[in-house]
Amino acid sequence: MNLQLALLERAAGENRLAHLLLFHGGSALHQREVALRLAQILNCNQPTPEGPCQECSPCHKIISGNHPDVLWLRPLKTTIGIEQVLAWQSKVYLKHYEGNYKVSVIEQADLVTLPAANALLKVIEEPPERTIIILSAQNAEGILPTIQSRAQLIYFPNLSQEAWLSGLREVDQQEAIQAFLLSGKNQNLATAILEHGLPSLQEWVGKFRTAVEERDFLKLFSLFPIDKNQAVLYLQVMAVQTQEGIQKGTRRPFELLAIGQALDVLRQQVNPRLVLEVLALELFQQGGALCD
Ligand SMILES: [Zn+2]
Repeated sequence: MNLQLALLERAAGENRLAHLLLFHGGSALHQREVALRLAQILNCNQPTPEGPCQECSPCHKIISGNHPDVLWLRPLKTTIGIEQVLAWQSKVYLKHYEGNYKVSVIEQADLVTLPAANALLKVIEEPPERTIIILSAQNAEGILPTIQSRAQLIYFPNLSQEAWLSGLREVDQQEAIQAFLLSGKNQNLATAILEHGLPSLQEWVGKFRTAVEERDFLKLFSLFPIDKNQAVLYLQVMAVQTQEGIQKGTRRPFELLAIGQALDVLRQQVNPRLVLEVLALELFQQGGALCD
């Protein structure tokens, strides 16, 4: 464990944790594990010098996701909207059911919409008693500065390829290495690629690129339907490839801009097909993509 996390655990054990923490960097999975452990430290009935006992009722309930004072807020679709934050807010101010501390973990907090972030800010400004809010995000820059400035930032370093691979079970090593490279060494993205299936992802992205290069709408139409999560994943992979292509001089910056905008729109809009067709059209009009 790194020093920062060790200090965080000690602060939790001594009940002097900041009431707003912002986890950023590293893997979402690692952030979730640390959040769970902090919730346990704050609520364990018989903590040991090594940390929570893992045997008492609060420890069990927290690890199984059944502790009434530990709340999770996650994007329902591609954003965390105002309704979700308001529903959460009404629970945050209720009295503690059984724990010493309430812990709220907001996962993928960089997907909170602006109105939702403003509602969140109100809670942060009037913090409920004995409550820790943990924002978990890939990039701290994705968090509203007024929220960021009130939080204690905890940085999770990226794992190496070897460390990421050693944490995976029952996967094809070659496929995992390819997924890691395709993700631009972003382990969250690499994990999502593996979960989706590498071959079908490569096939879809390859066909999309071909359709754009040949300006062939029929080829493009044959790529649908796909769901929104798939579309987000494909665009993330295309963004990484394009970024690397720009560095090599084989792709142009406007492509990355167009893909980034498509991702932004997709996170707010329901229709992935429409977003991807608009993107393809934009790439056509800009003279098509250069070949790798
Ligand atoms: Zn315990």
